[in-house]
Amino acid sequence: MTRPAIYLDHNAASPLLPEARSALIAALDLVGNPSSVHGHGRALRNLIDTARGQLASLAGAERKQVVFTGSATEAITQAIVGGAKSFDSTAIVISAGEHAAVSKAAAMTGLPVITIGLLADGCIDLDQLAQVIGAAQGQLLVALHWVNNETGVVQPMARINALVGPTRHTLFIDAVQALGKIPLDFAASAPDMMAVSGHKIGSPAGIGALLVKAHADVVRLIPGGGQEQGRRGGTEAAGLIAAFGAAAAAFADRYGAADVAALTARLEAGLPADAVVFGGERLGNVTNFAVPRVKNSTAMMGLDLLGLSVSSGSACSSGKVGPSHVLAAMGVSAELADCALRVSLGWNSTAADVDAFTAGYQSILERQRARQGQAA
Ligand code: PLP
Repeated sequence: MTRPAIYLDHNAASPLLPEARSALIAALDLVGNPSSVHGHGRALRNLIDTARGQLASLAGAERKQVVFTGSATEAITQAIVGGAKSFDSTAIVISAGEHAAVSKAAAMTGLPVITIGLLADGCIDLDQLAQVIGAAQGQLLVALHWVNNETGVVQPMARINALVGPTRHTLFIDAVQALGKIPLDFAASAPDMMAVSGHKIGSPAGIGALLVKAHADVVRLIPGGGQEQGRRGGTEAAGLIAAFGAAAAAFADRYGAADVAALTARLEAGLPADAVVFGGERLGNVTNFAVPRVKNSTAMMGLDLLGLSVSSGSACSSGKVGPSHVLAAMGVSAELADCALRVSLGWNSTAADVDAFTAGYQSILERQRARQGQAA
C-alpha cells in the first residue's frame, strides 16, 4: 500500500502548478535557439517575451527590468558581487537572518560585511540599520530579505525603503519568499535590485530572476553571448522561463483561493499548549514552532514515516539538520531551537493536510511521553 504523502514544505519548494507544467511541456516540443532569427527561434523568443511580461506584472516591474537567471541564488550573487563592483561599495550590510545565498555572496565580495541583528520577533533591528547608515563613510550595499524563509517573518519593507531609499546607498532585496504572496511594486519602490525564484511559486526549480533598475543595470557577471540584453549570457532555458511566466500569472490566484492563512491558523490552534511559535508579524503560510524536549530530528523522522513532509528550517543541499542561525539571532536557546519544526503551506494545501499533521504530531508526542514515562 502506498502511504498518503502530505507535503507541508512549500517554503522549500512549491508543488508544480498545472499552468506551469502545461507551459513547460508545450515549450519542450519547440525546436531551436531563441537567438535565431528564423521562425523556430522567433517562436521561442515569443515564449520568453510573454513570460517576461507575466513575471513583470506579478512583481510590479517593467519588462525591461526583468533578467532571467538560473536561480535566485545566481540573481543574488549577481546583485551583490556584481553590484559591489559596479557601485564601488566600501561595505556590505546584511542582516543576521539572511539566506546563505545572501550571506555567502556578501562574503565573496571580500569587503567588510556589517551584520544587523534581529529582534526577538524576527524583525531586522532598524535602529541598528539607521545607525550604520548614519555612520557610513563610503558607499554601502544593503542586502536584506523581505520575508524570512524559516519563520515567515515579514520585514517592515516600507520602513527599510524609507531608511535606505533617500540615501546614496545601494539597496538589494531578496524577495524570494515574498513573490506572489505580498504585492511587489518593484518599479515604483526604493530597491535598486531584487531577486525572485521560480520554484517558490510553482514553477520547476532552475529558474530565477534579477529585477534591476536602469541606473543599477551595470552589473555584468556572466556576459557570454549577450543574452538578456547582455545582462546574463547563456542560451535561455525557454521551457523553464515559460513555466515561470505561467506560474507568475497563476500563483497569486491559486494561493489566495487556498485561504492559506486560515489553514495556518487551524494548524496553530491544534498545536500542544506548551508549543512556542517563533516570529511576530508573519506571512500567513508558515508556522515555525517548538515543543520543549521534542527534538526536531526525532519528530521529523516520525512525521516522515507517516508520510508528512515538513522541515526543521531551511532546506539544505546536504540534507543535514543544522542549528538555525535565524532562531539563534532571535535569541532562541540552542536547546529550544533543536526542537523547531517549520510547517509551510501553499496553493494546494487543505484542511485535511493540516488535520493529518495535527494528528501525526500528537501521536509522536504521545509515543515520546510514553517512552519517557517508562524510562522514569
Ligand atoms: N533566498 C531565500 C529567502 C530563499 O528561501 C531561497 C531558497 O530557499 C533562496 C534565496 C535561494 O533560491 P534558489 O533556490 O532559487 O537559488
